[in-house]
This record gives sequence, structure tokens and C-alpha cells, in this order.
Amino acid sequence: MSAIPPPSNPILFLSACEIAAGLKLGDFSAREVNEAFLARIQAVDGEVGAFLQIDREDILSAADAADERRRAGEARSAFDGIPVGMKDVIAVKGQPLTCASRMLANFVAPYDATVTTRLRAAGLIPAGRLNMDEFAMGSSTENSALGKTRNPVDLSRAPGGSSGGSAAAVAAHEMPWTLGSDTGGSIRQPAAFCGVVGLKPTYGRVSRYGLVAYASSLDQIGPMGRTVDDVAALLDLLAGPDPKDSTSWPDPPPVFSRDLGEAPTRPWRIGLPKECFGEGLDPDVRAAVDQAIATLTAQGCEIVDVSLPHSELAIPVYYVIATAEASANLARYDGVRYGHRAADVSDAIDLYFKSRGEGFGPEVKRRVLLGAYVLSSGYKDAYYIRAQKVRSLIRKDFTDAFSTVDALLTPTTPTPAFPLGEKTSDPLAMYLADIYTIAANLAGLPAISVPGKPTPAGLPTGLQLLAPHWEEHRLLRIARLLA
Ligand code: GLN
Repeated sequence: MSAIPPPSNPILFLSACEIAAGLKLGDFSAREVNEAFLARIQAVDGEVGAFLQIDREDILSAADAADERRRAGEARSAFDGIPVGMKDVIAVKGQPLTCASRMLANFVAPYDATVTTRLRAAGLIPAGRLNMDEFAMGSSTENSALGKTRNPVDLSRAPGGSSGGSAAAVAAHEMPWTLGSDTGGSIRQPAAFCGVVGLKPTYGRVSRYGLVAYASSLDQIGPMGRTVDDVAALLDLLAGPDPKDSTSWPDPPPVFSRDLGEAPTRPWRIGLPKECFGEGLDPDVRAAVDQAIATLTAQGCEIVDVSLPHSELAIPVYYVIATAEASANLARYDGVRYGHRAADVSDAIDLYFKSRGEGFGPEVKRRVLLGAYVLSSGYKDAYYIRAQKVRSLIRKDFTDAFSTVDALLTPTTPTPAFPLGEKTSDPLAMYLADIYTIAANLAGLPAISVPGKPTPAGLPTGLQLLAPHWEEHRLLRIARLLA
């Protein structure tokens, strides 16, 4: 197993909250922090491949501006001057927005996503474009048309996906924290594979304005980092209502990073869904969950068995709903308004065919075709409408479970990181990597992955916790007991 060497600069081992404390004390400047991360990227990203692009001069001048503000006593927040890596599906004005697709290889974002605006308002520096599966479709980042990302813990293995670059950048100490997006597990699964923390917020908690749409009823942006506290602090900056996203929740969010260490007034009741511990679960991942159960029990939690009877339908339902929404969302890439335009075309139809044929990779095409099929007039009732009904049943399973427990604990993934290339020729095997994560998206629930006990071979494992809608604070408090 070959991992990348650990960094030598001590700044790179600090969590974002520790960096914020060091900046306040004057232990180092924002320029020194950003130079440290840029040097690390220079040293290791040739092997890791987390970044598709990084603009060094932009980052350093933003860092200098942050240092200037801090000297003047006008820091925008405790995190002013700290860089945050951005998955290449979130708009940062003037930077590439490729979704790791040939279709958008030359596209530059004309405006900031709401999350980008919020990060800037707090002085954070959106730093670099992180690799991903094309249009966030995949579980290994191998569907990127623009580059290969390796798992920093074992370079022969996949970093997970679709936010593989976001997870790898944190694991490789190339960024203190990053943003990912999660439609069926794309934050939590790569977090588990790379040994970092990743949170998918409740649907509607974080604005999707400026997030390139894959499946709009499932997509959420969320934070990835080295600690639960960092992820909570980053969520504080991201969350809240947004008039530009009609699905954003109107209530102001609580302060997620506050009182995370506070003991509960009565013991937490944690449910173990029996469907998540059956066939296909790797024994080393199972051992990590067993250890987590022991850790929670030792801290006073009650562990109870629960059932989510419709679990086995989550993957088929997801691949009907997500592809249906994707086929509609990706119709906009027609060679006329956005992105790649084929040369040498005879008429408008030829332009659509050739532009889409050349611009999209095989997995995207597969999903657009599948989505168009399940929405077509002859099959809509049999597939799309039926999938929506089952989605309601999946959601109800959670409502029932949460009537008796505060949170659920499952593995994040059935196996640790798999070798690069192992599943690329078998889409169905790849889809199974999300078997435990997808239901949270279908139900709109918040869910987090925190690192579990590594396997005897030293590979990371992930523990997933799920909570009722809007209960991210509870989720973070319980996650902290494990991290
Ligand atoms: N891996 C899942 C898929 O391929 C989920 C992707 C995601 O969450 N964006 O669709």
C-alpha cells in the first residue's frame, strides 16, 4: 500500500478551527497558511490529482487582503483568510465550472453560488476546483473526463465519489476543509473512503443556487473536513434561507458549532437498522461499527434495533428518480446555450446530436437515456410514478424509526475503498457503493460520515449517523462522541 508522505509543515496538521485560533493569536498570517497549503498541493497533487485547477496568485492576494483586515481589526469572521476547496460543480465567479465534463471544459462561472457569496462574506478564500465524477454521477471519481484522482491513503485505490477530489484534498492535507455535493452519498462515501468527516445537510438547509443541477430533489451542498467541529463551523457559514432557491428552508438556522460537547438531558437512543447489517457488508467495516457501538454505549447511549423495511428499494428508486431529473436538467446542454458545440454540423438536429454525443461521457449518457425512458409516456406510470410512491414509503420508514430513536447508526459504505478500475466496467456494482447512503437523500434527511476504526490493512472506514429533518445539531453532537 503506498500512501503519500505526511506533510512536514505543522500548520497542515491543524484543523480549520485551530488555524482560526492561530490567526487570532498571531501565530501565523493568512499568507503563511495559504502558502503552506499551496506548497503542499505543489508537492503531492501530481500524485493525488484532487485539483483540476488552482489559481495561486488569486489565493495569495486574497490572503494578503485578509491579513490587512485583521491588522485593522476588521476581520470578517474568525475564519477570515482560511482557504476552502470547492468541488467543480459550485459556481465561483470568474473560475472554471466544468463539472469534470468535456461539455463544460471551457465554461467559466458568470456569477457566485450563494454558498460562495456566504464564504466570501466571512472572508474565506474559495481555493481551487476539485475533481469529481462527471456531473456528480459516480462513486469513484473515475467518471471525470478531465483527470484522475487517487486515494491519498492508498494511491492504488479510488477516493470515492462523486466528491472524490474534495475528500482527497482534505485527507492529503492539501486543504483544511472543502465543499462537496451529495445526491446519493457523494459527500459521505468519499469521506468514508479517505478517512475524513463529511456532512449532507437536511434538504433545504443550504441553498442550491449556483450548484449545477444533477437531480434537483436530492442534491445538497455540504462541508467536508478533518473534524466534526470544523464541519459544524463550515455549516454555520453555509446554512440559511435564500430567496434565490425556492426550496431553501425559510427559518434561520441554529448555531451548529455551539455547545457540541454538551451532555444530553437524557441518554441518546441510537437505532441500528437491521437491514444495514446483512449480506455484502465487509467484516472490517462491521468491526468498525461494532467498536462505535461500544464507544457510544460507554458514553451512556442506549443502542436499540430498528427496521427500515423498504431499504432494499432505495437503490432502484434512486436510479429512477435521479436519472429522470438528470435527463431534464441536462437537456440544457444542447450546444446552443452552454458549453461544447460540435463543429461541422448540417442542421440544428445534427448540432444537438453531435454536441451532446461529443460532450457527455458514457455514464452521463446512460443516465440521460434511462431518465428519458422512465419519464416517457408509455412507461411513466410503471417507473417514475411508482418510484415516487416508494420514495414516500422510504421516508415513512424513517419517520417511524425516529418515533423511538434520536439517531440511526449504519456503516457509510459496505466496503473500504476499492482499487481503481475494479468497478469501472460494471455500473451496477458501482451503484452498490451507495447502498447505505442513498435513502437519506430520498427522505431529505441530514446524515454525516465520521471515520471509524481503520481496517487491519490500514484503510479508512466510515460510520454514518442519520437524524430527523433539521436536527443537524443533534447529529453533530452524537458524531462528536465517535470522533
Ligand atoms: N454515487 C451516486 C451516483 O452515482 C451518488 C452521486 C451523488 O451523490 N452525486 O449517482
